[in-house]
Amino acid sequence: MEHYDLIVIGSGPAGEKGAAQAAYFDKKVVIIERAANVGGAGINTGTVPSKTLREAALYYSGLQQRGLYGIDYSLKDNMSVADFMHREKIVVQNEQHIIQNNIQRHNIKLVHGEASFTDVHTVRVSSPEGDTEISGDFILIATGSEVEIALGAAERLEAQGVGSDVVSMPCTDRFDAQPQDYRDDILPDVSNRQILRVSIEAGATYGWERYTGLHGLRIGIDRFGVSSPATDAYEYFGLTPDAVATRVLEFMKQREIA
Ligand SMILES: Cc1cc2nc3c(=O)[nH]c(=O)nc-3n(C[C@H](O)[C@H](O)[C@H](O)COP(=O)(O)OP(=O)(O)OC[C@H]3O[C@@H](n4cnc5c(N)ncnc54)[C@H](O)[C@@H]3O)c2cc1C
Repeated sequence: MEHYDLIVIGSGPAGEKGAAQAAYFDKKVVIIERAANVGGAGINTGTVPSKTLREAALYYSGLQQRGLYGIDYSLKDNMSVADFMHREKIVVQNEQHIIQNNIQRHNIKLVHGEASFTDVHTVRVSSPEGDTEISGDFILIATGSEVEIALGAAERLEAQGVGSDVVSMPCTDRFDAQPQDYRDDILPDVSNRQILRVSIEAGATYGWERYTGLHGLRIGIDRFGVSSPATDAYEYFGLTPDAVATRVLEFMKQREIA
C-alpha cells in the first residue's frame, strides 16, 4: 500500500491549495478526485461558469457597450445556448489546465476515483478500474463548504436550548439510492413541527424541498449575478453560522414551533 504524508480528498479550491502548500514544504502528497475534471465547484459548476455566463449575458445584451459608448448595440439574431456556452467552455478548460499544471509543478499525484475511509489513516479509492487503498499521516477532507456553516449554526442553536443534528449530503443521488430504512434513520419521516428540517446550500434552494419537506426551511441563494470574495458573499447572503441560527429561530417563532 502506498503511503503519503498527506492525502487530500477533493481537487476544488480548498483541496488544490492545501495540497500545493504541503507539497511546497516537500511533503509527499496525493489528491483524490472523483470527478472527471479537477477544480471542484469553483471551476466546473459554480463560481467560474456562473460568472462567465454572467459576463456573456452582459456582453450579448449590449448593456456594457451602451454604458461605455452611448451607442446602439444590436443583439445577434438567432442567439442560441451554444453562443453562451462557447465562452464558458473555453474559460473553464483554461482554468482546469492551470490547476493541472499547479498539481504537476508541485509533484502531487492525482488519482481519480471515489474516496472513502477504511480507518483513520487509510483511504479506499474506488473507480471503474477497481479499488485501491492508500495510507497517509494526515488526510485533508476538502469535499465542499456548507457543512462547516451547518455545524457552527447547530452549535449556536444548541447553546440556546434547540437540539440540532447536522446531516452532510455531498451527493443527493447517492442518498436517494440508499435503502428506505437508512434514509428514514437519517431523515425521519415526521412533521416539521416535530423535527424542523433546514437545508443550507450556497446555491439555489430549488430541489431541497425533497429533503426539508414543503414546510421546512431552505436557506440558499435564489438570485444570480453577485461576485465577491467568498467571505463577503456568504455574509451578504446570510450563509454564516450566526445568520443561519437566527433564521432558524425566527422561522420556529413564526411557525410557533416549540
Ligand atoms: C453557482 C455557484 C456560484 C458560486 N459563486 C461564487 C463566487 O462568486 N465567489 C465565491 O467565492 N464562491 C462562489 N461559489 C462557491 C465556491 O464554488 C465554493 O465555495 C468552492 O468551490 C468550495 O471549494 P471546496 O474546495 O471546498 O469544494 P468544491 O469546489 O465543492 O470541491 C470539492 C471536490 O471534492 C470532490 N469530492 C467530493 N467527494 C469526494 C470523494 N468522496 N472522493 C473524491 N472526490 C470527492 C468533488 O468532486 C469536488 O471536485 C459558487 C458556488 C456555486 C455552486
